Amino acid sequence: MNRHITSKLIDGKAAAARVLAEATLEVRKMKAIGIEPALAVVLVGHDPASQVYVRNKVLRAEECGIRSLEHRLPADTREAELLALIAELNADASVHGILVQLPLPAHIDEHRVLQAVNPLKDVDGFHAENVGGLSQGREVLTPCTPAGCLRLLQDSCGDISGKHAVVIGRSNIVGKPMAALLLKAHCSVTVVHSKSANLRELCRQADILVAAVGRPRLVDADWLKPGAVVIDVGINRVDEDGRSRLVGDVDFDSALPQVSAITPVPGGVGPMTIAYLMKNTLAAARLQQPAPSTLALRTEATCPSIS
Ligand code: NDP
Repeated sequence: MNRHITSKLIDGKAAAARVLAEATLEVRKMKAIGIEPALAVVLVGHDPASQVYVRNKVLRAEECGIRSLEHRLPADTREAELLALIAELNADASVHGILVQLPLPAHIDEHRVLQAVNPLKDVDGFHAENVGGLSQGREVLTPCTPAGCLRLLQDSCGDISGKHAVVIGRSNIVGKPMAALLLKAHCSVTVVHSKSANLRELCRQADILVAAVGRPRLVDADWLKPGAVVIDVGINRVDEDGRSRLVGDVDFDSALPQVSAITPVPGGVGPMTIAYLMKNTLAAARLQQPAPSTLALRTEATCPSIS
């Protein structure tokens, strides 16, 4: 890769390594005062992609020194059984974070399950109390992917206040919390979606464009303001030239000459999602401590998603 491309690349792997190093250091500090951070991961069924995600999350946790507990339940688990397990994990003071891997089997009400997780242990930031808290600008656990995107932006652009950010996508997991975080970081925020009129024109006004759509290479140079910073959240599998590969929502080759910085796919946002899960587990552990140790451990540098 030539130097021109490298200078514009926002390297998610390197950024995630920095975040994980911060987390590892913080785990050591916690252990020194008698807190052993622990993350429980709950997987229902045998979805192959979910199995890989869970394995990676458990591995990263262990690398950081976070104790991980895996609960693998059969696909025909009843909702009541899953809720009972969550109640047990909520009550267990040695468990700081609870992650229920999505999607759940169709017979289980996902919303009811996510609402059952104690908001202080909700490391995905999906509980309504955390969602509401984020939109109020309060200190809450924040969804990992948007938190990782914000960190990539802040690391590569510095202060983003006053910038016009356009978010394509309004899902509860990425688009909406991303918009809330950008607003909290003092951007002017526009959210567009599948029903938006003048989509391309709106995107062309963006200083910062976050694409969270799930449509391979939807965004090309024509959608971008010269010098824009582009965060490509999309992960799309396509079959091309007889092989299967991952591409983003942005046509990377077309966009590159137009942008000042861009995340690649893979190697951009993806690694940050797991890294922020570790950060959130530590933030959850801090939130569950009595006031003195919480104060001792809470610093802006080690806890950017709780700010
Ligand atoms: P969803 O399908 O839940 O949401 C997609 C959003 O994109 C919706 O708001 C939808 O609009 C909008 N949309 C769909 N088509 C268009 C279009 N043609 N023009 C404009 N807007 C459109 O997806 P997610 O938010 O969960 O994920 C988005 C992408 O990010 C996926 O590729 C996913 O794999 C990836 N992802 C990556 C992660 C990572 O770690 N890197 C983590 C999570 C997701 P409407 O609301 O009107 O339907």
